[in-house]
Amino acid sequence: MPFADILGQEKASSYLKKLAGAQKVPGALLFYGPDGVGKARAAVLFAQALNCLDPQARQTGDACGVCASCQAIAKGTHPDVTFVDFTYQARLEVKKDFSSKGYEDELEKEIAKQQHINVDTIRDVTAKSQQKAVGGGWKVLIIDQAQTMQGAAANALLKFIEEPPYKTVWILITNKRATMLKTILSRCQPLAFAPLSQENVTQILKNTGADVPDPDLCARYSGGSVSGALKAAEALELLQNGQFGTPQGPCSVAAGLSRTLVAARQEAQAVLDVLICALHRRWTQTQDPREQRRLQQVLNQFETYKRSIGRNVSPALVLETALMSLDGLNVQIF
Ligand SMILES: [Zn+2]
Repeated sequence: MPFADILGQEKASSYLKKLAGAQKVPGALLFYGPDGVGKARAAVLFAQALNCLDPQARQTGDACGVCASCQAIAKGTHPDVTFVDFTYQARLEVKKDFSSKGYEDELEKEIAKQQHINVDTIRDVTAKSQQKAVGGGWKVLIIDQAQTMQGAAANALLKFIEEPPYKTVWILITNKRATMLKTILSRCQPLAFAPLSQENVTQILKNTGADVPDPDLCARYSGGSVSGALKAAEALELLQNGQFGTPQGPCSVAAGLSRTLVAARQEAQAVLDVLICALHRRWTQTQDPREQRRLQQVLNQFETYKRSIGRNVSPALVLETALMSLDGLNVQIF
């Protein structure tokens, strides 16, 4: 897959192509920006570009996407490219043999439990960083959710990102650069990934064949991210099934939330995000100062609802109250 396939990140892509073309790369890079805008894809693509076997692609610093090296990296089987995320960590922690019965179930449960990239995982990957590249190309070590590393894990990583061996590059990926340790940040070359335009989100949903009924509508409520669009798709379904806009809507939408608290919280937050987006749009459209004031009040109230869902309050109750407060406002979702 060439860099041109990553939509909306032209600046980051051209910088990475330049590095790969010159085969001159800083020891550690930090990809930062919101979730769902292509950071992880760009990291994998950069690993492909550095190790691509196609001479023409190499000249431009791009990846051909079809040579043996590019394919192995895409499949996650290339011996010199490691992608660390919660799934990788869960695999290290599941004690069962991966071919044994029940392995997949146990892995799923373990993934759901993950909250931090821990020190044992960092030790596993730093050990890999010291081994010689099998293919004679670049060793690329990618750490997703890098902001979740706490003291011990971050400290275990420090000296390895400071002076990696020749032809070794670390890529740290984060959606919260501000919360990361300064000692880590100061050792990484930062690279920003911007939110996507609505058109790009629509295009990506279509290109990847995402299972959403209306890509344009989901993109409108995506907040400039593909993962945001997928969350919006679920929220829109809840609103539609619950007959949003009818008198029974508030109660019926709230009743459609999942039974488990964690899932119900996430769904309710996603519905509120869609409604906040729709309220904003209405606010920019109306010329009536009285309506604007009322919309502003409701928007402030919605931010409070969002916070209270995170606390020990019933998500269904908060969502029903929020939906009832829209009464009399001309908020169009669909
Ligand atoms: Zn290739």
